[in-house]
Amino acid sequence: MLLNVSITVVIGSIPKFLTAIIINENLHRRSWTYAAIGLLFAMHSHAGNNHRYTISIDASLSKMTVTAHFSTAVTVISARSEDAPQFLDAAYDCDTAEKLDTRGRRLMLPESGITCLSYRVDLRAAANSERLSQILDPANIAVSPTLWMWRPRLAAADEIHVQFRLPDNVQVSVPWQLVDRADNRYRLVASPQSGTGIAIFGAFTSVVVDVAGTALRIAVLNSHNLVDTPAVTEWVRETAGNIALAYGRFPNSSARIVVIPVGQSMWGGDAAVPFGRVVRDGGETIELFINEGRPVSEYYGTWTATHEFSHLLLPYVQRSQRWISEGFAQYYQNLLLARAGQYTEIYAWQELFDGFERGRQSAPGRSPNAATAEGERSARMKIYWSGAALALIADVELRRRSDGRESLDTVLDRMQQCCLPSARTWSGEALFRKFDTLVDEPLFMDLYRRYADATGFPDVRPLLEQLGVRAEDGEVRLSDDAELATIRRALTIPDPRTSKRATDER
Ligand SMILES: [Zn+2]
Repeated sequence: MLLNVSITVVIGSIPKFLTAIIINENLHRRSWTYAAIGLLFAMHSHAGNNHRYTISIDASLSKMTVTAHFSTAVTVISARSEDAPQFLDAAYDCDTAEKLDTRGRRLMLPESGITCLSYRVDLRAAANSERLSQILDPANIAVSPTLWMWRPRLAAADEIHVQFRLPDNVQVSVPWQLVDRADNRYRLVASPQSGTGIAIFGAFTSVVVDVAGTALRIAVLNSHNLVDTPAVTEWVRETAGNIALAYGRFPNSSARIVVIPVGQSMWGGDAAVPFGRVVRDGGETIELFINEGRPVSEYYGTWTATHEFSHLLLPYVQRSQRWISEGFAQYYQNLLLARAGQYTEIYAWQELFDGFERGRQSAPGRSPNAATAEGERSARMKIYWSGAALALIADVELRRRSDGRESLDTVLDRMQQCCLPSARTWSGEALFRKFDTLVDEPLFMDLYRRYADATGFPDVRPLLEQLGVRAEDGEVRLSDDAELATIRRALTIPDPRTSKRATDER
C-alpha cells in the first residue's frame, strides 16, 4: 500500500526542472580487460577524429585548466550550456597564443580552424550555479560538463580522450567511458544528450562493484548530513542486480551510478528514494536521489532504482514518444522486483492491474503519441502505462506462440547485443521495426500501428483474464486454472537459463 501511494506522490513531486531529464555509461571488470581493450584501441585504425584533452583541477576545486589537441583543424568549438561563457576565464589558440573570444556558446575561431586550444574555467563559480551546490558538502562539487567542456561536435566515429590531472585526495567521476581508472583516463563519444550529465570532483565515495559481469561505477556524494555509504552502496549493488533478471546481464558494460543525498529539503515528499533519472549525456548515468534521513532498509522497499535501471533495457527513445520508454520501465520494474523476490507474484500483478486502470482512465480522448507530444500534465498515467500494456501484450504473445522459447526478455537481450548502448535517439517506429527483426515473426509494428495513434487505452482486460489475473472491487486474485496461467507464472520468476548465465558471469 505504501508503494501504491508512493507512485503518485513520487511522480507528482518531481520538480518541474527535472521532468525533462532522462539517461547512460560503461566499465570493465578485470585489469586484463583494460589491457586488451587498450591494445585493441591501439591496433584499431580509427576512421573518425581522435582529439586529446588534458584537464587539471586545483586542490581547492576552484580552477580548471584545459589543453586540447585536435587530430585535425576544427572550425567550430562550443559548450552545450548558454551559461558556459560566464565561467570561461580565458581561451587561447595555443599554437599562436591568440586569445579567443566567445559569441554565445561558441568560440570565435580563425577561418582555417585551430588544432590546439587552452582555456581556464572558474570551476567553483560554475559549481555554485548548480542547484545541487545548496546541499553538497563543499569538499565535493557537482558541475555539468555542459558548463565547462568546450569541444567540437562529435560525429559517430569521433572520440575525445580525456586525461584528468588531479591533486592528491581529489577524485573525479564523469559520465564518459572509463579507459584507465588509476590514470583517470576517459573516452567521450557521441551520445543522445538526453538530459544534462554531471561531473563530480573532490572528496566523495567512489567504488566499482561487479554486477552480473559488469563493473558498475558508483559515486556517492557527500551532503551536509551523514550518509551510511557502505549500506547505500550495497543497496545500489543489489538493486542493480535486479536488472540481470531480465536476460542475465546488465544492459550496459560501462554504466555509472550517482547517489545524491537530498534529504527532503528540495525535492519534496518524505519518500526514502524520492527520485531517480537516467541521463544519457556522454554515457549512461543513473542518478538516484536518496533521503539520507531515512534508514537504508527502507530503500529496499522502493521501486525507483529498479525503474531507472529498467530504462537501460531500451535505447533513448525521443521524448515526444516517451510513453514507450516509461511503459517498458513500468512493466519491467514490476516483473524484476517479483523475480528478485521483493514483490510477491500477486503484489506485482496488483501493481500492473492498478497501473493499467489508471492508464485507461487517463486522457481517454487522446492517443499515446498525441498525449505525450502535448506534455504530460493531464495524461501522466496514459504516458506511464500505455507502453506497459503493449509490453505485456507482446511478451505474452511471444511466449505463447513460441512455447516459451521467445519472450520480451529475449528480444531485449538481442537488442542489447546488437545495439546498446546506442549513441542515437530512436523513434518509436525505428525501435519497434528493429524489434521485429529480432523475432521469428514480426509483431511489434502491428501493435504500434494499432495503438500508438489510437485514442483510448490498449484493452488488456481479456488478456489478464486469460492469464488468470482477476479483480474484484479492484483487488487482484490469481487463478492457476486459467488458460495462460503458466505464462503468467513464468513472467515473475527468474528464467533458469538467464539466471545461470548471471551466476556464471558473477
Ligand atoms: Zn522513467
